[in-house]
Parts: sequence; C-alpha cells; structure tokens
Amino acid sequence: MTPELLQKYEPVIGLEVHAQMLTKSKAFCSCSTEFGASPNHNTCPVCLGHPGTLPVLNENLLRFIVRMGLATNCEIRERSIFARKNYFYPDLPKGYQISQYETPICHDGFLEVEQKDGTLKKIGITRIHMEEDAGKSIHDFGAETLVDLNRAGVPLIEIVSEPDMRSSDEAYAYLTTIKSIVTYLGICDGNMEEGSLRCDANVSVRLRGAEKFGQKTEVKNMNSFRNVQRALESEIERQIGLIERGEKVIHETMLFDANKGVTRPMRTKEEAHDYRYFPEPDLLPVTVTTKYLDEVRSEIPELQRARRDRFVSEYKIPSYDAGVLTADKATADFFEKSILSLVKKSDESIKALSNYIMGDVMRLMSERKQTISALGLQPNHLAELVDLIQDKTISNKIAKDIFPDLLGNSDSPKQIVEKRGLVQVTDTESLRATVRDVIAKNPNQLAQYKGGKVALFGYFVGQTMKATQGKANPEMVNSLMKEELEKA
Ligand code: ADP
Ligand code: ZN
Ligand code: MG
Repeated sequence: MTPELLQKYEPVIGLEVHAQMLTKSKAFCSCSTEFGASPNHNTCPVCLGHPGTLPVLNENLLRFIVRMGLATNCEIRERSIFARKNYFYPDLPKGYQISQYETPICHDGFLEVEQKDGTLKKIGITRIHMEEDAGKSIHDFGAETLVDLNRAGVPLIEIVSEPDMRSSDEAYAYLTTIKSIVTYLGICDGNMEEGSLRCDANVSVRLRGAEKFGQKTEVKNMNSFRNVQRALESEIERQIGLIERGEKVIHETMLFDANKGVTRPMRTKEEAHDYRYFPEPDLLPVTVTTKYLDEVRSEIPELQRARRDRFVSEYKIPSYDAGVLTADKATADFFEKSILSLVKKSDESIKALSNYIMGDVMRLMSERKQTISALGLQPNHLAELVDLIQDKTISNKIAKDIFPDLLGNSDSPKQIVEKRGLVQVTDTESLRATVRDVIAKNPNQLAQYKGGKVALFGYFVGQTMKATQGKANPEMVNSLMKEELEKA
C-alpha cells in the first residue's frame, strides 16, 4: 500500500487487555494458581462448578485491582457487584464466568504513554474489572479433546481503553506502559508470550479529518507486543483496501496469523453470543472504604517513568542508562541497593555500577533467562567490586576476571582478591623492573619501534600486563614504558 493511501486514513484503536493476577490462590476458592501442576490437580468443587458450592472473593484480587485502578487514575467504585457471564464451552464447567458488568470496580481513568519525541499522550481507561479465567481444552490427542481445569478460576483483571490510540506505534507504547505498571505494582508478571497478559485489539479507520469513527473489527490471537503491532498494521491496510474498493468493513472478529502476517475473519459479531449477564447471587457486593483506599495507595511504588527521571537527576546517569535500569523494577531496586553500599558514592562509581549492571549483569540475565535475584549476585558485593576499582586496589581487568566468581559466592570481592593475591601492583620500582625486563626480552620489536613502528607501544604494554598476570596498574605501566623506551 502506498504511503499516500495510508496517509489518507487515520486509524482508531482501543485495546482490551487481560492480566493474570499474581495471587497464590484462585479468585473464588483456595486452589493454587501455580503453573505447571499436573492436569486438573489444582481444582476443587468450587472451581469445578459443582452444585451447592459457594465462591468467596480472594482479598488479594481486590487489593491488586485497586492498586491498578489507583495507578491509572481511575475512580474506584465504593460498591460494585459481580455478574455471571453465561455461555457454554467444555472448558467452563459452571456454564458461566464470574465477571463484572455494569459496575466495574475501576472506571474513568487514564494513563500516559511516551511518544517517539518524548512527549506524553493521555489514553483514557474506560474500565477495569475483575473476572475469572476459564480452563483449557487440549486438542492434540488424536480424535480426543481433553480438558484441564487448573486455569479455571484463576484471577484476571480486564483493562479496557478508550478508542484513543491513532497508530500501531501508540498501541505498542500503551502495552509497554501497561506491562511496566503491572510489574511495578507486583500484580502480574507481564509475560505476554506465556499468556499472563493478553490483548484484543479493536481497530477502525476513517478519512483523516473525519469526525465519525469508522466500523471497527476486533483482532485476537497475538502472543507478543510486536505481533499486536503487526496485526494492527495488516488490519489497517485491509480495512483501507476494502473502503478504497468501495466495499464495507463489517463488524467481525479477526484472527492474526503470525506466520503470514495477516488477519483473517474468525466469526461475525452478528452471530456472537448473548451472554445474558445477571447479578451473581452467590457473592456479596464489594465495598471499598476510604481507609482501605489509603492503605492500598501506600502500597504503590514509584513507577518506572518517575523513577527513571529521578535516576537522571539524583545519580547523574544518562537518560538512556536510567531507562535501561528501570525497565525492570527488580533491576532498578538492585542498582539502588548497590549505591547504598558504595563506600565512595562518587558520580564515577555510580556510573561504573550502572555500566556493570547494563553490561555483565544483564548479559547473564538474558543468557540464563534469569531474574536479577536468581543470579545470586549481592548488591553490596557489586558495590565493593566498584570500590576496589576506584581506590585502585584492583584493575578493571582483574575486576572483569573475578566478576563471575561473585555469583552465588558468600566471599566478598575483597576476600576473593586477598585469597588469590590479585591486589594491583602500584609499586613503581618493581613495575619499572618488569618494564625493563620486557624491553630487554624483545630486541626485535625494540628495533622496529625505534625505526618508527610506534604502534608496537601497545605490544610492550601488553607484554608487561601479561608478565604481572594483569595485576599491574595500566596507567603506571603506560608512563613507565614511555620513559624506558625513550632511554632504551
Ligand atoms: P463492543 O460493543 O464491541 O464491546 P465497546 O464499545 O465496548 O465495543 O468497545 C470495546 C473496545 O473497542 C474498547 O477498547 C473501545 O475503545 C474500542 N472501540 C470502540 N469503538 C471503536 C472504533 N470505532 N474503532 C476502534 N476501536 C473502538
Ligand atoms: Zn478450586
Ligand atoms: Mg463492550
């Protein structure tokens, strides 16, 4: 599609995001939410939908959704009720999902997404409500379909946005912001690949400048942020194509095929279910007091963008570093803990810490697919390593060498350095002797150097570092080598 044609239309996007809550037990019973148990192990009469059982609201589900509501500037309804959403499906033993319908607990909020030029754009949040997940049908057993109900009753929140986004980039930025908020709040692990975050994308197009929204479709089946963006791009082009050919966009649900990068129709909304919502008679209305709201408000940490900006002003690190360090809350916490442990809190030491975390630490995290706490590195040990470099006890080279030994080690860097005799050689006379020795042992190189091949300077320095097993202070070697080569 030509850029001119794309420019002629304006996309309008609204997202519906489901986030799985990190509670230990399910939404309305005490079964575990743990992933990976053997099929149907985490079940009980309540989540199996046996007659005569009664659901009880998990207090943490309420707490978590209120955190999310407050963090996204929502009104929190004082009194809200649950509703039954009725439909038949083999993975839904009760024949309905417990959800919220006309009284979502959070409503009329907004969040701000950062645009490419750094400015913020407000995206309205229509509502956030609580609901339970359904089970899973497993189709890969030949003719049989099996059902695993471990997921039935797992708590979800659904976050519905206003149709405020105007490009697939904005939709991507919105999802990134949602992920950052839920992970900072500690209410969801934010993993879209594993289904802890799921997104349905509503999209329409209209002629640029037009006031009325076009007919929307809903796109499902995306398992990564990037795929949401790709799905939107392909659906936007499909809709523009239809309109340009004089055809009509119809109200339907599209599935994204990630391999082909295209959307195709799943079912038209006209034949969609009527869910016959009605108030859930087995659960009490949820009431939220001002005192409770204050309590939950106090659990909300500084969020990513605020923390990034504070890192820049407080620690004088580049905005890029601050963005990388705060992308994950645990990593940002680690950075701040290690700063607290520094003996010498200079800008230089803080930047060195940031470099270590952005470099070696994050490389290990991605290689091992581990969180920062799983690495077994202690923040005070990393701080001590940086202190040892700054006070010239060890060289950068030695620090790099012993870094892997800090993982899962109770010995501090100081103890490791002492045990292995790695303290940096800064004694001028002994270094001078080594430098002379290196020159004496390399008469050919010396001759070439004197003949104008000045690049060999690095060779002499390298040989000296080697002779001292990397323990020599590099700046001292440099200046001594200059002196001695001059004399030689
Ligand atoms: P439905 O009746 O299909 O459930 P809703 O009005 O409840 O539609 O909106 C569902 C989602 O679709 C919301 O995220 C909303 O922002 C978005 N949406 C609504 N109208 C449009 C539109 N014309 N174009 C794009 N998105 C839309
Ligand atoms: Zn249960
Ligand atoms: Mg709706």
